[in-house]
Amino acid sequence: MTRPVHRVAPATDTPVRQDSLRAHNLILTFRQIVGAPVPISRIELAAATGLTRPTISRIVDELLTAGLVVEAAPARSGNSGRPRVGLSLARTGPAGLGLDIRADSLSVCVVDLTGSVRHLDFAPHGPFPDHGLDRQPVAGFDRAPAEGRSLDPQDTLRSLATMAGKAIRTAMAENLTVVGATLAVPGPVDGGIVRFAPTLGWRDVDAGGILAALIGTEDLPVGVDNDAGLAALGELYAGGPELRDFVCVSGEFDIGAGLVLGGVPLGGSRGWGGELGHVMVDSAGPACACGATGCLQCYAGLQRIIDASPHLPPSPQQPAVAIDTLVSNGSPEILAALNRAASALGTAVSALVNLVNVDTVLLGGSYSLLTSWLTDGIDRELRSRVLTARWSPIEVRPAQLGPDAAVIGAALQAIDQVRRDPNPWLARRG
Ligand SMILES: [Zn+2]
Repeated sequence: MTRPVHRVAPATDTPVRQDSLRAHNLILTFRQIVGAPVPISRIELAAATGLTRPTISRIVDELLTAGLVVEAAPARSGNSGRPRVGLSLARTGPAGLGLDIRADSLSVCVVDLTGSVRHLDFAPHGPFPDHGLDRQPVAGFDRAPAEGRSLDPQDTLRSLATMAGKAIRTAMAENLTVVGATLAVPGPVDGGIVRFAPTLGWRDVDAGGILAALIGTEDLPVGVDNDAGLAALGELYAGGPELRDFVCVSGEFDIGAGLVLGGVPLGGSRGWGGELGHVMVDSAGPACACGATGCLQCYAGLQRIIDASPHLPPSPQQPAVAIDTLVSNGSPEILAALNRAASALGTAVSALVNLVNVDTVLLGGSYSLLTSWLTDGIDRELRSRVLTARWSPIEVRPAQLGPDAAVIGAALQAIDQVRRDPNPWLARRG
C-alpha cells in the first residue's frame, strides 16, 4: 500500500469570509500585473484569473487609488480597433530598502515596486579584516579564532543606519515609501541573529534588532539574510526568464554561493546553505577562520590573493580593482595567486555541479571584476571534473549586477512582500 506523499488540508465547514475572498482576489489579480512582461489589460486580467470583468474593474480601481498600478497610454488592439489600456506597476509608492555589510564596506539600496534601483550608496568601512588563515587549526565552532580584529556590531550598524536614513529620505523625495528592509550579511542567520560571520568577527549578533532600533522608523520590518543567497535573488530578477538553474558564487573576503533551481532560490532547511567558502579543497591545507582546514576560502578568498603580492598595499580600498590593475600590468605573483584561486574554485564548484546540475555559474561580488583572470581556470576544472560536462557544457560568466547583487537582492526581498500581497499596503492607506 502506498502512502500519500502530500498532506491534504482537513475539510472544513467554515465558509470563506467575504473580506478574505476580496483580499484573495486582489492578490490573484495583482500578481498577474506583477508577472506580466508588458502592460496587461482588464480583459486579459479577467481571462488570466477567471474573475468576472466587474470584479476585475473594482480591483483595478482599488489598485489605481492605492497608487500601486498605473494605466499605460491607450493602444489600438488588433481586431476590434478599440483602445486597449494596459496596466503596469507604479514607480512611486512602496519601496524596499537593501543593506549590505561586507568585511571592508557598507552599501545601501532602494528599489521601487517595478524592481528598478532608485538609490545606491556605498562606503568603505574598516578596520580591514583579519582572517586568521595561518592560525593553528581548531576543532569546533566554539574554539574558532577569537583574537582577530573584528568590526564592532554597534559601530558598524550605526554607520549603516545613518546611510539607511539618508536613503529613506531620498526615497521620500521621489514619492517612495520604504516599507521593509533586508540586511545582507556574510554568514548564517537565524531569525535576525547573525550566528557566525568569521570575516566580521561576529557571533550571535542580533543585527536585525539593533539595526531596527538604530533606524528608529516605526513599523519598518528589518529582515536579515545571507548575502550570497540575496545576490542570487538579485541575479534571478536581473537575468530574465532564461536564467533558471544557476549558482552565483560571490567572492569577497569570504566566499558564498546562492543556488537557484527551476527559478527557485534554495537555502536549505534553515536557510544556511551556500557556505561554499568552507567546502574543503585540500585536507592538508591551512587553517581557516571557521576552525576547519583546507577550506576554499584559504585559496580563493580575496585576502589570499592580496597576500600573494608584495606590491599591493595591505588594505586597498577596492581590493578587486587593485588586483585587476596589478595583474594587468604583469604581476607574476598575483597571476599565480589568481590561477590557484581559479583552480580551487573550479574544484569546489565542480562538486556542486555534479550534485545539482546547474547549467550556469555566475561569478559575483568582487569575482565579477576579476572574471577574465578566473574563467579559464574554473572552466578547466569543470570540464575535467563534472561527469556530464561533455554533453552539457557549463557556462561561466560574470554576474550581471556585479558587486551590487547582494544589496539589490536584499532590497528586492524587502519589496517582495508587497508584490506578493498588496493588502497591507492598501490597509495602511486606509
Ligand atoms: Zn572554513
